[in-house]
Amino acid sequence: MTAFDVVVVGSGIVGLGHALAASDRGLSVVVVDRAAALGGASVRNFGHLCFTPQGGLAREFAARSRPVWLRLAADAGLWLRESGTVVVARHDDELAVLRQLAAERGSESVFGSGQPDVMLLSAAEVETRLPLAAGMAVGGALLPWDLQVNPRQAGAGLAAGLAGRGVEFRYRTAVTAVRPGRVTTTRGSVDAGTVIVAVNHDIDQLYPEVALREGIRRCGLDMLRVDAGLRSPLPAPVLTGWSLLRYGAFAELPAAALLGDRLRRQYPALAELDLNQMYTQLPDGSLIVGDTHYRGASVSPFQNENAFEELLRLTAELFGVPRPRVLERWQGVYASGRDDFLIDEPEPGVHLVAATTGIGMTTGLGLAEHVIASVCDSSIPILKGIS
Ligand SMILES: Cc1cc2nc3c(=O)[nH]c(=O)nc-3n(C[C@H](O)[C@H](O)[C@H](O)COP(=O)(O)OP(=O)(O)OC[C@H]3O[C@@H](n4cnc5c(N)ncnc54)[C@H](O)[C@@H]3O)c2cc1C
Repeated sequence: MTAFDVVVVGSGIVGLGHALAASDRGLSVVVVDRAAALGGASVRNFGHLCFTPQGGLAREFAARSRPVWLRLAADAGLWLRESGTVVVARHDDELAVLRQLAAERGSESVFGSGQPDVMLLSAAEVETRLPLAAGMAVGGALLPWDLQVNPRQAGAGLAAGLAGRGVEFRYRTAVTAVRPGRVTTTRGSVDAGTVIVAVNHDIDQLYPEVALREGIRRCGLDMLRVDAGLRSPLPAPVLTGWSLLRYGAFAELPAAALLGDRLRRQYPALAELDLNQMYTQLPDGSLIVGDTHYRGASVSPFQNENAFEELLRLTAELFGVPRPRVLERWQGVYASGRDDFLIDEPEPGVHLVAATTGIGMTTGLGLAEHVIASVCDSSIPILKGIS
């Protein structure tokens, strides 16, 4: 039996990131996935690489991810837009959050030079950029360092590129047990010096005690792809005031607490859905619309139509269009924990790695870079999964 340097369990973006980082260092890699093709969170998301609003460890991983994504776009031909993100503020308390982050970050950026992290926009500047309903914005911001990929193409493109570099992929192969140096699968064992387990929320199947200890649950999300009939295309992913409660660097600002109070008081039904009203536009012009959040040890597969109705109503209201035509609906699931990441080594040479909030596309490649760098060089301390 061939022994590999690294076996990666899970072929989502986190697993692929590890395969890439290991392959970049000349290691032999095999990726094992129980599915026939990529179908997990890594294809069900917005493709929004929202580097700027990350804080703490997530910001570090975001900064490491960005150049990797840019390299992949050039090398593997992935569709990627250096679009930034446009945040629409519809209320002064939303503007206050944007102003606070702009002041905190100043003119420097960890992502590069030449432009700040947050560029405040007037209402007129937001309306020039986005096809909004009249009078919708009181202002906003451009987060110029953010990127957009097509989630339906990015993972598959990266996997194809890795296969072309000699990384072996074994699909329809479920891992049933992990030990140092060996994983047992439904198609025999695989030996490797390093085992990376990147199975997202399914960590509770392989390592139930770790999932319990780290408070990892499943988070379900309702998503739509629509034909919204917008007056003009979206030049960038669009966030709203609800998004300012969600991403670490925004959510920790004093102004975010006031914003949260107001939104929950004014829109209790939307707060109940744990809404993040946001949009990305795919290359074919259709709009990805989301999302809602519900958490538990398992999530109900029966999606409540009320959530979709609210998402469609809000979209029509924001862009001043009739109810959009629904092209697709789906449920996304990701691991949700107390911290932003799970990074654990329960046995020597076995690494459990996950983004435990909805930022794996943004941070996953940088997270993987870090883990493989510390596996290859014991002088690099492994960072723990705290946010
Ligand atoms: C609706 C939605 C929207 C999101 N939007 C964004 C966004 O815009 N930006 C962002 O940064 N993040 C976003 N996220 C989060 C991001 O998509 C995830 O954090 C990321 O994709 C997780 O990647 P992963 O590789 O850990 O998991 P996955 O992509 O789910 O891959 C895990 C893989 O493990 C395999 N697996 C599981 N168990 C086994 C086993 N025992 N044996 C073999 N294989 C196994 C599965 O088959 C699967 O292929 C979103 C998530 C969702 C659901």
